[in-house]
Amino acid sequence: MSEKEYSFQTRLLHNSHKVDPETGAVSVPIQHASTFHQFDFDTYGKYDYSRSGNPTREALENVIAELEGGTRGFAFASGMAAISTALMLLSQGDHLLISDDVYGGTFRMVTQVLERMGIDHTFVDTSDIHAVECAIRPNTKVIYIETPSNPLLKVTNIREIVGLAKAYHILTFVDNTFLSPALQRPLELGADVVLHSATKFIGGHSDVVAGLAVVKDAELAEQLGFLQNAFGSILGVQDSWLVLRGLKTLQVRMKQSAESAQIVADYLDQHSAVEKVYYPGLSKHPGYEAHHAQADSGGAVLSFTLKDEEAVRQFVSKVEIPVFSVSLGAVESILSYPAKMSHAAMPREEREKRGITDSLLRLSVGLESPEDLIKDFEAALVERSLEVPK
Ligand SMILES: *Cc1c(COP(=O)(O)O)cnc(C)c1O
Repeated sequence: MSEKEYSFQTRLLHNSHKVDPETGAVSVPIQHASTFHQFDFDTYGKYDYSRSGNPTREALENVIAELEGGTRGFAFASGMAAISTALMLLSQGDHLLISDDVYGGTFRMVTQVLERMGIDHTFVDTSDIHAVECAIRPNTKVIYIETPSNPLLKVTNIREIVGLAKAYHILTFVDNTFLSPALQRPLELGADVVLHSATKFIGGHSDVVAGLAVVKDAELAEQLGFLQNAFGSILGVQDSWLVLRGLKTLQVRMKQSAESAQIVADYLDQHSAVEKVYYPGLSKHPGYEAHHAQADSGGAVLSFTLKDEEAVRQFVSKVEIPVFSVSLGAVESILSYPAKMSHAAMPREEREKRGITDSLLRLSVGLESPEDLIKDFEAALVERSLEVPK
């Protein structure tokens, strides 16, 4: 590639792995070999064993690093494998500050695994910078945020957190799953580690489970590379290829889904059967300003509450278009019920304290026509018994 600065959209296709240098193939070849012949007794080649390095996985790792504005990327067997491996940068006696409505699997890892290993944590509302500063301890090593968060779409100001973290020599980790680098690039805002469940928007087609991590700092890259090899939860080559393929259409998918999500959010917001809509694209969202200063749009995920669990039950049984399942970030719209799905691992009391009630639904908007989604929802929401006073 020339030195010209192309846009993100173009770089999804025209990056360091646009063509295979050996054959000119326009799709990255899948290298299945687990081990590599060493041609010289004294000097070993670039690859030796595929856990430590594999050309197909490496292509994905290079591309995600370029797209997030990092120096090195790492591909893992799942988002949780990426997150867990990055958390292994912590040692016994360290303390972690973490967003209080973090992904359920991350909550489980922090409370039931790290805790047992002597790594302490404090959950904090990271949208409140003062609360974050008050929770810092002398042994705090990482501030871990998700913005917008799951499932309540709370917005954390990345620049503010990074500023605070740097002042205290703390690393900032950002789970960027909900927006993907197409809409938000935390490394450019000063974050140290960006994490992804590539199972979601990056893969994009509900057909692969994968995780990614990206860093900018060379020493941190070294440490994370060591941990990836030591722990070994790498992404397989077929799955690396699927993620590479998904990436090519990331921009058009995100753009379309986010536009539709805005239309659907506006619709739900004015509906008498809907109590509350959580979506950072709504101007009344408390994090609207902060969000739009760090991201390109409200994204494709929103949550909303109906009157009660019974209303939710009726709605879910009536709607036709979205699949009712866990996960998000796919070509098809996905409706999920956090209380019994993504956040089932969280004790009821903890859940409700965070606002993840039994009347909350999360919607990941796919590529269907937004008018059809609204038509579907309109029919599912008509029950007069579902109406609640505003
Ligand atoms: C799904 C998800 C994860 C976990 O990723 P897996 O690929 O399922 O392991 C982590 N963070 C967020 C925000 C997610 O949505």
